[in-house]
Amino acid sequence: MNGHSTQKTKSLFQRLSQTIVPTHYDLTIQPNLDTFKFNGYVNIHLKIKEPAGSIVLYAADLEVDNAKVKSTANDEQLGKIEFDKESERITVNFDKKLETGDYELAFKFAGEINNRMIGFYRNKYTTPDGSETRYGASTQFEPADCRRAFPCWDEPNFKATFDITLITPKNLCAISNMPVKSENEYVNDKEWKITAFDRTPIMSTYLVAFIVGEYDYVETKDSNDVSMKVYTLVGKKEHGKFALDTAAKVLPFYADYFNIKYPIAKADQIAISDFPSGAMENWGLITYHETALLIDPKFSSVASRQRVANVVAHELSHQWFGNLVTMDWWTDLWLNEGFAKWIQFLAVDKFYPEFDIWTQFVADIYAGFLIPDAFKSSHPIEVPIGHPAEIDEIFDVISYSKGSSVIRMLHDYIGDDAFRNGLHNYLMEYSYKNTITENLWLHLTKASNKPVNEVMSSWTRQMGYPLLTVTEEQTDKNRVIKIKQQRFIADGSVDEEKLQWKIPITVFTKSNPKQIAQQVLMDDPEITIKLDNISENDWIKLNYNAIGLYRVKYESQTLARLNEPIVKKTISPQDRLMIQNDLAALCNSGHQSFVDYLKFLPSYTDEDNFTHQISKLGWEAKPNEDPLSTMLRPMILGIVGKSGDQDLINEAKKRFERHIAGDLIDENIRGAVYVIVSHYGDESTHEALRKLYVAADMAEEKARLLRSMGHSIKPEMIENTLKFIFEGNNVRMQDSIVGLATCTTSHEGRDIVWKFLQKNWKMLVERFGEKSRFLIRFVEYGLSDFADEQTASEIKSFFDTMNTAIVVRPIKKVLETIHMRSEVLKRDSKAIEGYLKQP
Ligand SMILES: [Zn+2]
Repeated sequence: MNGHSTQKTKSLFQRLSQTIVPTHYDLTIQPNLDTFKFNGYVNIHLKIKEPAGSIVLYAADLEVDNAKVKSTANDEQLGKIEFDKESERITVNFDKKLETGDYELAFKFAGEINNRMIGFYRNKYTTPDGSETRYGASTQFEPADCRRAFPCWDEPNFKATFDITLITPKNLCAISNMPVKSENEYVNDKEWKITAFDRTPIMSTYLVAFIVGEYDYVETKDSNDVSMKVYTLVGKKEHGKFALDTAAKVLPFYADYFNIKYPIAKADQIAISDFPSGAMENWGLITYHETALLIDPKFSSVASRQRVANVVAHELSHQWFGNLVTMDWWTDLWLNEGFAKWIQFLAVDKFYPEFDIWTQFVADIYAGFLIPDAFKSSHPIEVPIGHPAEIDEIFDVISYSKGSSVIRMLHDYIGDDAFRNGLHNYLMEYSYKNTITENLWLHLTKASNKPVNEVMSSWTRQMGYPLLTVTEEQTDKNRVIKIKQQRFIADGSVDEEKLQWKIPITVFTKSNPKQIAQQVLMDDPEITIKLDNISENDWIKLNYNAIGLYRVKYESQTLARLNEPIVKKTISPQDRLMIQNDLAALCNSGHQSFVDYLKFLPSYTDEDNFTHQISKLGWEAKPNEDPLSTMLRPMILGIVGKSGDQDLINEAKKRFERHIAGDLIDENIRGAVYVIVSHYGDESTHEALRKLYVAADMAEEKARLLRSMGHSIKPEMIENTLKFIFEGNNVRMQDSIVGLATCTTSHEGRDIVWKFLQKNWKMLVERFGEKSRFLIRFVEYGLSDFADEQTASEIKSFFDTMNTAIVVRPIKKVLETIHMRSEVLKRDSKAIEGYLKQP
């Protein structure tokens, strides 16, 4: 589809009429994993609220026939089905008008178990001994692919209950949202069984799930007696234990935090071999990419454990926020995801304090959105969505990361008690229903007596965030601080729209670095704050723990004073990190010279915090080492190794050779060793890495190897890596992006990837589908690292001719990033050179 037709869909798209509403589905599905076909039967209970001659609902990639409608008085009539492929809907026309009342509408249907990871699709795996390739099938319906599995009202606010029945070969597991109600031999074929599941709660179609395949599991019960299983491929159930253990702690934590019982009897989780994202929160049956759920007790790294804990905590929170209470339309998806992304950190921090996860929030999530949100091509987190296909275009790092940062700021602004009370009341009022963002603000306003709606809309409905310019003046024992707000724009230009925010501001000082000295809501372009009893040379700092969404520009003396709390580490890692992060952004935008940044950097020479990446840790883990050091070590090894330290390189090569011979490298540094040997390695090294990849049976190990291959400094090795990824069957579609992204870590690699994307763009669009979010990732990860206008204009003209609608916005972002870098080089490179050369 080109840009023009997207426009057309946008204006024409209309949601289904609310005059005919489904209340219950009886659904039976029979998959055939030899032919990749499935048959089904669905009987939908309806309320018809206005007399109608036809019924419209969704169905896509399905053959649908035998439409029959029956009234409560047992009046039966057959309907004629009209298909509209473009809108993915069917219209069932009836000769006799249907009067208002209750009806049952039944269909037979059939479809293909596809290989595109949407709807009801196939999962490829090998038997435990590796000898045989087999297939299972699973579902992925969010946002709008339930319609590919059965005809339905496939919009989030048509909630209903579901009785699901699966007819499968006897030897396979049949799993769905709810516990098994009955399992019997299938009368038509003794080799098959028929599994019926309990009725679901009232829920949206995008949360329905059913899975067929060979699985093992581990199980437990949480402290509220909810039954929990983690399913893995056969022979790997031990790999499910860490996630199970985490889930058994986190689920009751949420039940307590929301003060609402988890509403169904089981909470299962399953790793799916072919999976398009990290995880999907289907109610009672959460599906995961293998790397987001499975931990090998012997061979998984600490970083993988942290990732699994994070994803599990994220998905479980959706069981309330998203599943029990659901957005009315996809426009409010940002709130769903922003909330889950925030509360996952709350939960992980509670059960794994050793990860110091909030510092990582600031480094990855908060600092992560500040960069793209400063571009002119950014967008507000709250954007009206028409057609669900627009979701992937708009919901990017800005929506999710800014969304969660906004929630974190709000939680801090109104306090935990008011936040929990308001949240509980909101979830209670809208349980089993749909709602909009304003209703949450309303409950939080009531609970806190603060103007939540006003404050929040300035953050969710405008793009960008403010730069606060701070000046100060000392008189006797008092300090007068003047603060001015204006939008921060990445290239330093002036905001012509003159956007303004309502900003919760905190100030703290040297006399009590662990406590906020003053807290105000800034709702003017300029404010003045007065601090009493402060000594003349005491430092002051804004934005305690980097909770407010703003950058700060201090006068040079104010900034110079902050050297002290950084060196002495009297302020938090978050604060230390963001002082230099803000300064770097101000240099990138031309507000300050990079020489200022270089002059300030010595404040950080003593840093040992993980996120500051400077330390000497050696090769071996110390006994009882903290996990942050364990995660820091491979980063440092990788950096030092790639910078050419010959002793370190030799040691890595030795370890790699021993590894191939069977003396395995410690899992926490293995990735770094792979990167170093890949960086300097020849064809035989790369052949060895590829062999390890093919032989590896854990997704985590495969990901580690794939991430290393692109790090080569030899162009032909990078080309071979791309061939390995995209030609042949070795790398699953969903993992190709990981491999491509690491090919861009060198100059040569960047050029090769750019050439590759030009040559293969049409193939990628074909393979992934023109609406696939993978296309967004290919351009963002593949092209953002250039710093010259020449390449920028090549990229622009290439994608102008390609006309791929879904990457129009991402390409703008890529171009702005390149432009910003090229401007910095023009402006500051001479001065930086001069500074670095001075004795
Ligand atoms: Zn989510």
